[in-house]
Amino acid sequence: MRIDAAGNFRGVYPAAQADAPRLLIGSHLDTVPNAGAYDGVLGVVLAVAMLEELRGRRLPFAIEVIGFSEEEGVRFGAPFIGSRALVGRLDQALLGVVDNQGVSVRKAIEEFGLNPKEISGAVLENDALGYLEFHIEQGPALEKLNLPLAAVEAIAGQSRLELIFLGHANHAGTTPMHLRRDAIAGAAEWIGIVEQMAQEIPGLVATVGKIEAKPGASNVIADEVRLTLDVRQSSDEIRTRAVDNLIRQARAIAARRGLSVRENTLLSQRAVAMDPFLVGEIDKAIVKTGCKPHRMVSGAGHDAMILAEKVPSAMIFLRTPGGISHDPSESVLQDDVEKAIVCGLHLLDQLASSPEFYKRTNCA
Ligand SMILES: [Zn+2]
Repeated sequence: MRIDAAGNFRGVYPAAQADAPRLLIGSHLDTVPNAGAYDGVLGVVLAVAMLEELRGRRLPFAIEVIGFSEEEGVRFGAPFIGSRALVGRLDQALLGVVDNQGVSVRKAIEEFGLNPKEISGAVLENDALGYLEFHIEQGPALEKLNLPLAAVEAIAGQSRLELIFLGHANHAGTTPMHLRRDAIAGAAEWIGIVEQMAQEIPGLVATVGKIEAKPGASNVIADEVRLTLDVRQSSDEIRTRAVDNLIRQARAIAARRGLSVRENTLLSQRAVAMDPFLVGEIDKAIVKTGCKPHRMVSGAGHDAMILAEKVPSAMIFLRTPGGISHDPSESVLQDDVEKAIVCGLHLLDQLASSPEFYKRTNCA
């Protein structure tokens, strides 16, 4: 077991032969304030439990279990710091990002007793066959379908924007309705359209999660509204078209109401497909476990989307009771965890008996 310079915990279960390539299995060890007990860490514990179940039996490939650091991005506002180190993207800019006490990622690594100059030692070698991640679904889909497990076929892309509607502040009692330039009323009309559009486009989710109005008095018509827009879909084309359409609608509403509107794009992250071969093998392993296979798109981001830049990657979701996560009442069913371990062992056996898998290294 070692801790790399980005604070990732890494342990290797050896293969039958030295110099064999390795399969990576992991998830993250950090979490959010007021969190539950399973987001992230369950995937690491599951990997260790699977290796224990092998009882020393060697496979044609080694297995490296990784507990990633800083996936959630709570402290520095920058997610996936640990996994970005593995793909060579924990660069000087990211090391320079500071928390709200002014402590940089670089300094935090030093204070943890690690050496940020050794970050390059965390980068994956050319012997990685693939990456698997077990994770709770963090949503209600599997519970609704009464299924314990699912294969993740893609991680949704996301757009995050800030919109600012500008109008004219005036007296709430003396300004007739037809002479108002009310930024809140305009923003409200647009928010209704956001919800309606997301309901009409399959697989699209759109959220206005934050709204701020000025001057913010009950007897004053608002002249400024700032709000956020978060749009996600597995197809980048559908997502970007939806965002463009929503911006057009915002401008039309503003024009009709004598308002102006500005938008800033804060994030446009492409969707990441999981590896089709691994997803197919996960389907088979789920069937061997005695469960119905199911594929889904993850609306949340995961380390697997970072690893997928370098190695074939896939995820297995576990049902999340009540769909509740990032809350102390987050839970899993013991029976589902047992099924996930059995499914993982079937998957390892399938991959071990698939020479086209473990001979397919990215070695030069
Ligand atoms: Zn997580």
